Amino acid sequence: MATNITWHEGLSRSERNGLRKQKGFTLWFTGLSASGKSTIATALEQHLLHLGLASYRLDGDNVRFGLNKDLGFGEKDRNENIRRIGEVAKLFADSSTIALTSFISPYIADRKIARDLHASDKGDALPFIEVFVDIPVEVAEARDPKGLYKKARAGEIPNFTGISAPYEAPVEPEIHVRNDQVTVEEAVAQIMEYLYAKDLIVKPAA
Ligand code: ADP
Repeated sequence: MATNITWHEGLSRSERNGLRKQKGFTLWFTGLSASGKSTIATALEQHLLHLGLASYRLDGDNVRFGLNKDLGFGEKDRNENIRRIGEVAKLFADSSTIALTSFISPYIADRKIARDLHASDKGDALPFIEVFVDIPVEVAEARDPKGLYKKARAGEIPNFTGISAPYEAPVEPEIHVRNDQVTVEEAVAQIMEYLYAKDLIVKPAA
């Protein structure tokens, strides 16, 4: 261990990635309520952590009750909710961590804002990977583990995505998971293959 500490102002992204031995990027999960976003993101986070890769998942529980507890569900607040999540994910990614976000994020324009935050005019954009967790609304409604569709159908939840509010599907997501046709393990494997193929993580030696 070196005892002489060298310090200089500001680390570059590549220096930080080199020292942390991993790249930072954001995996942005989007899809209907009960499409499987949290389940897949949680399984993937665990898998990445087991590989020794720093990863952290942002979801409704750790964001809505903390950072964004001042925000409601009106259109302006929903936009601000997503913008802040985008900013936080970007900071995690910039710190050479893998940020995973699991929010419905139903609007193309909002997801574009989050994506654009990761771009840079200095040519060192942070990778932003949109993961579309896609299931037909009927399947989501049949799974409905929290009974939210039932409540929405009964008119107890206004502006419920897929029922009484739109879901704007991604046009060209980096990863498209057909989550009515695969197991959670297969979905994780599909995402891992993408990350290996794009050289975002290094495949462990067999
Ligand atoms: P979201 O975070 O999108 O609201 P969840 O992750 O809570 O959705 O998943 C909704 C339900 O679907 C859960 O009960 C979960 O166990 C189930 N589920 C998720 N992925 C799959 C899958 N590939 N096959 C079968 N059931 C799944």
